[in-house]
Amino acid sequence: MRHPSCRYVRTGFLAALVFILIMGVIGCSGSNKEAAPDAADAQGLYTPGTYTGEAQGLHSVIKVEVTVDANTIQSVKVVEQKDTEGVSDAVFETIPQKVVEGQSLKVDIVSGASVSSNGLIDAIAAALAKAGADIDELKSREPLKAAAKEAITKKTEVVVVGGGGAGLAAAVSAAENGAKVILIEKSPALGGNTIRSGGEFNSYDPARQPKVAMTKALTNELKEILTYDEKEFGDYADTLKTLKEQIKEYFAKGDTTKLFDSPELHMIHTYIGGKRTDLDGKEISGKFELVKTLATNSYGTIQWLESHGAKFQDGIGTVLGALWPRTHHNTEPLGTGYINTMEKSAKELGAEIMLNTKATKLIVENGRIVGVTAEQSDGTPVTLKASKGVVMATGGFGANPEMVVEYNNYWPALDASVKTTNTTNATGDGIVMGKEVGANLWGMGFIQLMPSGQPGTGALSGGVWGSAETQIFVNKEGKRYVNEYAERDVLAAAALEQTDQTFYIISDMTSLGNPDLNGKNVWGDNYQDLIANKNIFMADTLEELAEQMGVPADVFVAEMKKYNTYVENQLDPEFGKKNFGAKLETPPFFATPRTPSVHHTMGGLEINEKAQVLNTEGKPIDGLFAAGEVAGGVHAGNRLGGNAITDIFTFGRIAGASAAGK
Ligand code: ADP
Repeated sequence: MRHPSCRYVRTGFLAALVFILIMGVIGCSGSNKEAAPDAADAQGLYTPGTYTGEAQGLHSVIKVEVTVDANTIQSVKVVEQKDTEGVSDAVFETIPQKVVEGQSLKVDIVSGASVSSNGLIDAIAAALAKAGADIDELKSREPLKAAAKEAITKKTEVVVVGGGGAGLAAAVSAAENGAKVILIEKSPALGGNTIRSGGEFNSYDPARQPKVAMTKALTNELKEILTYDEKEFGDYADTLKTLKEQIKEYFAKGDTTKLFDSPELHMIHTYIGGKRTDLDGKEISGKFELVKTLATNSYGTIQWLESHGAKFQDGIGTVLGALWPRTHHNTEPLGTGYINTMEKSAKELGAEIMLNTKATKLIVENGRIVGVTAEQSDGTPVTLKASKGVVMATGGFGANPEMVVEYNNYWPALDASVKTTNTTNATGDGIVMGKEVGANLWGMGFIQLMPSGQPGTGALSGGVWGSAETQIFVNKEGKRYVNEYAERDVLAAAALEQTDQTFYIISDMTSLGNPDLNGKNVWGDNYQDLIANKNIFMADTLEELAEQMGVPADVFVAEMKKYNTYVENQLDPEFGKKNFGAKLETPPFFATPRTPSVHHTMGGLEINEKAQVLNTEGKPIDGLFAAGEVAGGVHAGNRLGGNAITDIFTFGRIAGASAAGK
């Protein structure tokens, strides 16, 4: 069986995702009666009663019960749904409430959960149709607005802006270090991009990695590192020197069966992966102190997360573009395990969390950041004063196409039509607010394209594949064209060169970990639905698979045979793939069509190793800290797959402690 660590192919645990949600009735007990439209209409808008409705959600049918009187939607109750826990929670918490409050079906969908949102709205509409409602009118009717409340002013010690992984880690850490904390999040739910990410976490690991076998190809990579010249490694020359000594010692010990790793190897991979040149010919690489902080603290971050209740799988894999098997996976699906754990700890430690509260400006007094102004979704103005500091953790700008196009200085042709894997909330707010107070923006031109986005949506979901060493990419001509173990920008650039900028990830049963084909993949997608919707192709022979993909069968089959000889020889003479899984030969075979989409924005507010934000003169801005995707300096030109989660929790924790004065 393939390595159990590869999160993309886990299926069993997804059964745990399937749950029936019986929500408390979200109702208005008649309190909206005076606000109901057309209340004077003797006929009324609805036939009073309770009606059921259903519609397709992400993974199954969503069922609701809606109660109406003559003119008012009284309550909406979700009776059953099985969409992704964590990611879709906000849908089922907020949409019924908004329908009742607004007396309208014109409801904003929840960012990052559009299928569940639309499914729920359709189910409510189906119930209301039975009550005789005019659905078109309800869908176009402006919702009744809750009036803005009286302005809110609060005083605290640390304010954290953004409730994704970095922000929650900062809140927990600041509180742990004794500070009074308020975290604000602009959306109705915590989690940001973190909760919908794969949750992959890169770290050396003295407990788990020795259980992983060293392959011949990886041994060859270590030998190659011994030939690297320190002179080409700038600030990292000493790191390379130390690494070479570690590798020599590893070989000298004579046991090269267990996987080698060290913080220094992680640093060198991060350096090599991030060293890039922009379109103006300017070179960039990760700031040494930040990369060192990342790689040397990563394992400590795992232990810190564990101390808060997070659980990691035993196995280790290589997420796409990670360059080495050091990728850890949480036991909970996607990023939900991290977010739920951190939210619980933050609350237990007394941090106050304000949802639907969008920071708009940093407050500066005598050159020091002393708080933020914000606005709640109902328009209520908020002023938060922070005596110790503000941590900016607002994520990236991948969902802000104007900003992507404005700053991109890496991809020769990137226009605003490019799709993204991000939630719509990743709009770069923190970068704008930081810039306004003099923060230096670092590496803004470098934007990561995820090579394997879903054509049409840009999403990460909707496909099947294994760990990076097992993945094989072929183009529409049926040919391999790249080293699939390479960095993400290399993979994306190569994909953009292919016909229709599209390629197929080829898998077999072994590389997928022998999944239950009547079950679900790690994203919660049902295999049979994926096949029926032609999101993936499945066939018992490579010839049949080629036919479904529409690629020349003879070329494709020859290509796969050739690849299997590379696996046998642990050497890819064509593209230099550096690590291999098992041969691809166990039917059924699978092909997932993919195309690049915007995934991560590497640039942002420049920080130092204490997560202090630096101004354009390289000096810390008093009272301002940043962590996660909003910050710049770690990943430089190309982030390694699996380094973002390590980054957000490591620097989130540091930022919280620094803001608390530690
Ligand atoms: P990271 O991985 O760096 O933690 P995420 O995308 O996971 O980034 O989380 C960033 C969070 O910040 C998101 O939940 C997003 O909605 C929130 N956010 C973005 N801008 C603002 C803002 N202006 N005010 C409050 N929250 C914000």
